[in-house]
Amino acid sequence: MESTSAQARSPDEPATGAGIDRTEAQRSRLRTLLARMQAETSRLPDPAPGGDDLRASVAELAGVLALGPELEVRSCPVCKGVCMRTATLCGSCWTRLTP
Ligand SMILES: [Zn+2]
Repeated sequence: MESTSAQARSPDEPATGAGIDRTEAQRSRLRTLLARMQAETSRLPDPAPGGDDLRASVAELAGVLALGPELEVRSCPVCKGVCMRTATLCGSCWTRLTP
C-alpha cells in the first residue's frame, strides 16, 4: 500500500512558495479565482452555517498563495508581443522600449 506522504507538508513550513514555479498566467488565474471566492463568501448571509470557517479558510488560502500584485504588462509597439511594463527591451523582437 503506497502512501501519498509526498503530498504532506508540515504546518510549520514557511509559506514563501519556495520551489513552486508558477507561470504568471497561472498566478493571474489564481488571483481571479481568489477574488471571486472572497466576493462569494462576502455575499453569504450572516450568520451562515460554516460561513465564518469558509471566510477564514479563503483568507488563509490567500496568505499561503502569496500571489502578490498583478504584474503590469504592455504590448510592444512593433510586434505587439506582451512585455513587462518595466522592460527596456521587447523579449520577442528586441525593440528598445521607452518607459
Ligand atoms: Zn516586440
